Amino acid sequence: MKNYITIIAIAVGSLFLITACNSNTNKKEEKTQKEETMKNEKDELDAIFPKGQKGPAEFFTGNAHNFGFEIDSVFTTVAGNVYFEPGARSNWHSHASGQILIITDGVGYHQIEGQPIETIKKGDIVQCPPNVRHWHGASPEVGLQQIYVVPNIEKGVVDWQEAVTDEQYQK
Ligand code: MN
Repeated sequence: MKNYITIIAIAVGSLFLITACNSNTNKKEEKTQKEETMKNEKDELDAIFPKGQKGPAEFFTGNAHNFGFEIDSVFTTVAGNVYFEPGARSNWHSHASGQILIITDGVGYHQIEGQPIETIKKGDIVQCPPNVRHWHGASPEVGLQQIYVVPNIEKGVVDWQEAVTDEQYQK
């Protein structure tokens, strides 16, 4: 009788595990299908904020547009949205207190000097440490919508440096 109960318990346990695995797989497939559908249907990027003003050629390659948020000075933080058109990117630069990027749509690149280029997309959070040379921008084919947050601006907001060359961008 004891053995019989053990066998039943194992059988039920296995059934549960199999069911659980199947349901996970189904969920994953559903998600992929949903993402693909969204991708196929999408011609333009979603914009949460106005496009803003075109970033100067002195600091950006291609068309990047900045919309700064109004944030009370008590926070010593600047934040805003940048829309990078395909192929657009910032110059190399650093932030004295670092920077947080929240990607809200599209596909882009982020690179910390000396490290490989990282592909970034909707839902990604990118943290750039203080005083580290880096750049960010859109991919060649798809634009990028990013929110930036630069804290502790009493130490400085941004130190702009040279442009990212086509060779560096295409790596
Ligand atoms: Mn930055």
